[in-house]
Amino acid sequence: MGTIQIFDSHQNKVIDVEKVLKTDSEWKRLLTPEQYRITTNKGTENPFTCTFANIKEPGVYVCARCGTELFDSGTKFDSGTGWPSYYESVSILNIVEQIDRSLRMIRTEVLCARCGSHLGHVFDDGSPPTGKRYCMNGIALKFVPEGKL
Ligand code: FE
Repeated sequence: MGTIQIFDSHQNKVIDVEKVLKTDSEWKRLLTPEQYRITTNKGTENPFTCTFANIKEPGVYVCARCGTELFDSGTKFDSGTGWPSYYESVSILNIVEQIDRSLRMIRTEVLCARCGSHLGHVFDDGSPPTGKRYCMNGIALKFVPEGKL
């Protein structure tokens, strides 16, 4: 029970993993207040505060809560928005996209498939080749340089 399939780039295949299920109070204990506000309470970090905004090194951006691979560095682009942006995820298996009707808008929310962390939103005004803009909260991600995974 609670097993999902995600893509693992290290092994270059789809693997079975246990979901990471924790209560809000458990996450509160494990995360910084700002990480908790964003990943658990679906907050948004202030633009231009991302610590890896200028990193262009090869590597992978993983979930800050559970380590699931989310975005490859090769898909990162400068959207000018102040939030880290990617044109596609590592795999559709690794994220969940769902309709978000908050703030009187209809947006597509992006969550980690394994732990349910709120990551950000995806928009259709992005970069080739997909035209997508995965607009992420940097604090919800962690950069792992190539070879360090
Ligand atoms: Fe996660």
